[in-house]
Amino acid sequence: MVSRVIPVDPFDLVIFGGTGDLARRKILPALYQRFRVGQMPPDARLIGAARSSHDAADYRAFAEAAIREFSDADRGSLAAFLDTLDYVTVDASGETGWAGLAERLQPGRVRAFYFSVAPGLFGDLAERVRLHGLADADTRIVVEKPFGRDLGSARALNKALAAHFDESQIYRIDHYLGKETVQNLMAIRFGNMLFEPLWNSQYVDHIQITVAETVGVGGRGEYYDRAGAMRDMMQNHLMQLLCLIAMEPPAKFDPDAVRDEKLKVIRALDPVPPHHIVRGQYGAGDSDNQPSYREAVDDPRSTTESYIALKAHISNWRWAGTPFYLRTGKRLVARSSVINVAFKDAPHSIFGEEAGRHANLLTIRLQPNEGITLRVTIKEPGPGGMRLVDVPLDMTFAEALGPEGGDPPDAYERLIMDVIRGNQTLFMRGDEVEAAWAWTDPIIAGWEARGDVPKPYDSGSVGPAEADQLLKRDQRQWRGINP
Ligand code: NAD
Repeated sequence: MVSRVIPVDPFDLVIFGGTGDLARRKILPALYQRFRVGQMPPDARLIGAARSSHDAADYRAFAEAAIREFSDADRGSLAAFLDTLDYVTVDASGETGWAGLAERLQPGRVRAFYFSVAPGLFGDLAERVRLHGLADADTRIVVEKPFGRDLGSARALNKALAAHFDESQIYRIDHYLGKETVQNLMAIRFGNMLFEPLWNSQYVDHIQITVAETVGVGGRGEYYDRAGAMRDMMQNHLMQLLCLIAMEPPAKFDPDAVRDEKLKVIRALDPVPPHHIVRGQYGAGDSDNQPSYREAVDDPRSTTESYIALKAHISNWRWAGTPFYLRTGKRLVARSSVINVAFKDAPHSIFGEEAGRHANLLTIRLQPNEGITLRVTIKEPGPGGMRLVDVPLDMTFAEALGPEGGDPPDAYERLIMDVIRGNQTLFMRGDEVEAAWAWTDPIIAGWEARGDVPKPYDSGSVGPAEADQLLKRDQRQWRGINP
């Protein structure tokens, strides 16, 4: 079952910020992998563009080192890939270098500009790309997260881009949407008859979405301390997972049909009252000499959260009354992204209460061990009457697909190829991002107004104890972080 590789048309891709960390770790290795499997054509051109002064040879050496460090490389294809690279020194907010960039672009082929620079430069870049005549009606721009830090800044950013590009040309990246297993959520829901009839508040008791990381803030302390888990993870990645789990079936798998349905979910979210939210901040690890959050961000009084758990409600016909429990945090016991759909108990037990009751649970593992487990109730084997137990029907996708299934491509590989193909399905639309901020802003404003201080939790734990209380109050409990 080897995945089919359909080559894309020849293209010019300009990577603004081409010497930055994201280009080094993700964009260049992703493009190399697509080249290696034959999807990126050899006559495509990649043009690194950044403020520092380099020539093409320097940039090829930079890209080679990056690919060797962050990807597996074979010599023949790497040399051919490096031949597609060029470099131009450009100032995003000045006039230097634009004429040189214009000379390098070829007419009549797909053209995309990747804005892998600080978001403060997105507007400047959009304006200059347009004013220097580098874009036509088919040109695409790709923008990275964070897309704003609140509704006002996201609106301003949307406006700055919309002044020069149509929405159909703007590709806002949420790399979570490029993950194979996240797309699988749609296949599981809408490719099977089994689940969808039960996918509503009549049959589903509650849903849990967990995105847990073992790493701390690392070298991103300065940025992270101004953002926190709510802005960095909840407003975008967890929100996207929530949308894919909760949305109505779109009529077609096309960009606007899918994004319309996601937007309806976000708009139907109720405001979250303070007692439905737990914020946490990690302390130092016992065993690994890692710094506490406050040490990592070098602020002994920081009140930024590195963990958040909350209970959300979607007020629509499908989900009224079904709680969605969402949590994400750093320095937790395991790295995992998992969704648990807990079904209700059978309405009546013909075996009597003494036989025990076991509600069905569908666990969708996004990482690691991508797969699904459905817990079903059976009779406990042996004599001695009818007692019930639940057992897992377990499928790990890698095992089910066999060795030829191969490793799924990195999210960036898929997303960049989608940009070239002109497919926006896996990118966030401007109104989606704004709606997500409109839901997030009052929550953050409430913390600021109350001077909320996050609850401490131990590194390597499952998060603050108060998060357990959030579910216990509802006679529920979190499933394990490591499913
Ligand atoms: P970085 O600081 O490592 O690199 C910034 C790049 O921008 C450099 O190439 C620099 O030369 C260039 N640059 C800066 N000012 C410029 C100017 N005036 N004109 C032209 N070029 C200029 O940043 P990064 O980590 O690569 O992040 C880039 C973008 O990606 C940011 O929006 C960031 O939020 C986003 N992002 C990064 C990561 C990551 O893992 N690094 C993850 C998610 C999102």
